Amino acid sequence: MGLTANSTGGGALDRGLHIEKSSPDERVVALAGNPNVGKSTVFNELTGLKQHTGNWPGKTVTNAQGRCTHQGIPYILVDIPGTYSLMAHSAEEEVARDFLCFGGPDAVVVVCDATCLERNMNLVLQTLEITGKVVVCVNLMDEAERKGIRVNTVQLSENLGVPVVGASARSGKGLAELMDQVGTVVTGQRECRPAKVRYLPVVEEALRMLEPAVSARLSGRLDSRWVCLRLLDCDDGLRETITGYLGFSLWEDCAIIKKIRQAQELLLEHGIAGDRLKDILVSCVILRAEELCMDAVVCVQGGYSRRDRKIDRVLTSKWAGIPLMLLLLAVVFWITIAGANLPSELLSGGLFWIGDRLSDFLCWAGAPGWLEGALVDGVYRVLAWVVAVMLPPMAIFFPLFTLLEDAGYLPRIAFNLDKYFKKACACGKQALTMCMGFGCNAAGVVGCRIIDSPRERLIATITNSFVPCNGRLPPPRKGKQSGRKAG
Ligand code: GDP
Repeated sequence: MGLTANSTGGGALDRGLHIEKSSPDERVVALAGNPNVGKSTVFNELTGLKQHTGNWPGKTVTNAQGRCTHQGIPYILVDIPGTYSLMAHSAEEEVARDFLCFGGPDAVVVVCDATCLERNMNLVLQTLEITGKVVVCVNLMDEAERKGIRVNTVQLSENLGVPVVGASARSGKGLAELMDQVGTVVTGQRECRPAKVRYLPVVEEALRMLEPAVSARLSGRLDSRWVCLRLLDCDDGLRETITGYLGFSLWEDCAIIKKIRQAQELLLEHGIAGDRLKDILVSCVILRAEELCMDAVVCVQGGYSRRDRKIDRVLTSKWAGIPLMLLLLAVVFWITIAGANLPSELLSGGLFWIGDRLSDFLCWAGAPGWLEGALVDGVYRVLAWVVAVMLPPMAIFFPLFTLLEDAGYLPRIAFNLDKYFKKACACGKQALTMCMGFGCNAAGVVGCRIIDSPRERLIATITNSFVPCNGRLPPPRKGKQSGRKAG
């Protein structure tokens, strides 16, 4: 496909903002996208690197860099952490936002999931507010086809005003075309006219008030409309970053402060302030995303999504959702406990028989009692208990859990329980890590990585140890007790 890959590996300086070019011709291309859309897969396919791929958010927490050449143009590809929005809430989202806003990439490839394109458009639209040099890569086309979803990339490209390429990164399909389009954007052959979000008329008026003063100070270093939006919604974290990037503070410029006040007064007259403004901005982006996808995404297999929605309505309903969940979990536990009995007994029988033979051997060899006690009772029997008690239930519980995950039931559990967990300042996804904790606490704690918020993740990690994992079940009473045979 005409891509030559050589690489420098990951690593990030200045939270990944610093890109070391080996020649001035090199073009920097950022790979952005929601978590789990296949960004790292695209990155690996193009660079020949082995960035870790997996299906949990927060997997890529810093910017990884790799190189490739396509049609004679050398590129540095930067795999930035997955993010749903550029209104950053977590450390990974900040890293992603900072690179897109201040890293100065020559182009941004926004990788999207073809099976839920509308949700991904949120990030595309927010990226288009920062830069017009965007190529949209609609990945997982194979999955979409399987689900009867057709994406009209030509129409979507027309709607967005930037190139859109369909791809199946896992098989490398569409990636050469993706790089062709990146080439046209970085060389300026393709002029992009990015779709912009239009906010409520009063917000637009406030922006018009503010923009001339801001634009004069920015001298084209950042998109003035985007900065004005941030000035109005008062994001403190971003304030510091913008000040650091520009080398001066927009918030200390008298002309700008005056305009901000006027704009805020205007918004206030219409009852718009603080969180309400944030809500309005977000809902306008969502409505625009819906509009953009309306004629570009067709569900050809209507039955598939209709059936899906019907099942969803039952599984997440107020009355049936929780009883069904309890019933299903009870069945899983029953299969695990009942099913583990026989293999546990067989394993403990076999392992303790070996333990007795070890005791016999040490006895025959004339080993002192304390040595036999330490080796056989202390080391071997403890290990044998752990294996006999833990292995069979884990070998049953985790595959069952995987089946529930593959069937898509686990996110429904998280959804059903979210409001109850929220009351305890935790997150619904914690229910999943707790369920895993019944199989093994260590696996439950590792599973906490699926929780986005660091605070909620910490709560889940700490409280997981209160779940009685099967390693803490009392050992079966039957079984030969240790002890040196008399004589
Ligand atoms: P990231 O979080 O966006 O970096 O996503 P990853 O690259 O880690 O991919 C998430 C999951 O999607 C992995 O299990 C990939 O193997 C899988 N994946 C990536 N691209 C494709 C694709 O084109 N088709 C299918 N079916 N799966 C894919």
